[in-house]
Formats: sequence, structure tokens, C-alpha cells
Amino acid sequence: MAVRKLGKGKIKCRQCGRTGGVIRKYGLYYCRQCFREVAKNLGFKKDS
Ligand SMILES: [Zn+2]
Repeated sequence: MAVRKLGKGKIKCRQCGRTGGVIRKYGLYYCRQCFREVAKNLGFKKDS
């Protein structure tokens, strides 16, 4: 079997390394939990 590097393979959260539920939005590559923290730090808010 060929070795997969990047592409359609599993995407890891860049913070915790989790492979499930990783969000690629904005090219951030965080899982949902980390994304919440990061989003907080970046200033994302639910309400305007
Ligand atoms: Zn994470």
C-alpha cells in the first residue's frame, strides 16, 4: 500500500493532534474544542 502523506488522509488538529471533527475553516485546522478557544482568542463572537 502506498503511504499517504497529505491530501485526503486524516486531518489533525494542529493543537491537540486529534483527528476527529477537525475544522478546516479559515485554514486553521483545529478540532471543535480547540477551535472554540482559538476563536475566542481571535475575537470571534456569536453575537455582534
Ligand atoms: Zn484540538
